[in-house]
Amino acid sequence: LLQLVRPVEMLGVALQQLARGLAFVERMLDLQRQAPESVQGRATPAVDGYGELVFDRVHLSYGTGQPVLQDISFRVRAGRTLGVVGASGAGKSTLLRLAVRLVEPDSGRILLDGCPVCDLALASLRAAVAVVPQDTLLLNDTIANNIRLGNPECTRVEIEQAARLAQLHAFIMRQPEGYETRVGEHGLRLSGGERQRVSIARAMLRRPRLFWFDEATSSLDALTEQHIVRNLRQIAQHHTTVVVSHRLSSVAHAEEIIVLQQGRIAERGTHAALLASDSLYARLWHQQQCADTAPYERVYPS
Ligand code: ADP
Ligand code: MG
Repeated sequence: LLQLVRPVEMLGVALQQLARGLAFVERMLDLQRQAPESVQGRATPAVDGYGELVFDRVHLSYGTGQPVLQDISFRVRAGRTLGVVGASGAGKSTLLRLAVRLVEPDSGRILLDGCPVCDLALASLRAAVAVVPQDTLLLNDTIANNIRLGNPECTRVEIEQAARLAQLHAFIMRQPEGYETRVGEHGLRLSGGERQRVSIARAMLRRPRLFWFDEATSSLDALTEQHIVRNLRQIAQHHTTVVVSHRLSSVAHAEEIIVLQQGRIAERGTHAALLASDSLYARLWHQQQCADTAPYERVYPS
């Protein structure tokens, strides 16, 4: 029996390492319902810049003939924020899959800091983009180690800074074991909102060029979310941000907001401009002001 113990331990270690690798790509596999073989990276090394992102007349059908995104064009200037709202199934996560090249568009171009993403080595592209998904994979380890996954070389001080920016530090300090608190299997000892904040802290440590929040604050209360958004804006000069959310207050500050409907940009503009017009956005905004977080689907039945 003893002879069996060691291989089993080694398997455990291997699984931990595998889990770390998986956490690094932030459940990319989950975003990737199909593994496109065409997207093996080319050799171009990392781009320089602060994350300017351009979609230029992008069309995508996932090879089914059924269009999922049609004629998507936008430019998020470096250091600015794009807000994306739309019912589930509208194509919001597909934008992210395109940006990190989990899928290739049927036509159109996607540029990061002026460089077509299809010309970038996948590793440098994905190092440049930090994705904060709705649901994060946490390791059965301490909070500190889970945050550290964003950058294994970071110091304890940096972990704490990231946790403060993600509005998680006070919570951690209330735990008897502080940063050494174990999060349990899949992080289940934490609430959904706490897990999301670990994920945000982790992303902040990566110092990405482009932050992409894909419904990443859905389990947070509106006030906590506002604090995080404000903190992000304080450190925003060196990165660009895309915020995808059901809750319009999460995108209200963005320089541009696009409303996706069935794969098309149905409306676009600033919060103020959209509110001033007779838009779906304005209707939804008023509804959410009443209900705080009215389900999107009530206004946009799918
Ligand atoms: P959202 O994030 O706005 O909820 P998605 O971008 O995930 O929407 O999906 C948009 C549409 O594309 C949906 O109708 C979805 O079913 C479809 N879709 C997503 N992934 C694939 C895929 N790999 N193959 C075919 N259709 C897909
Ligand atoms: Mg989605």
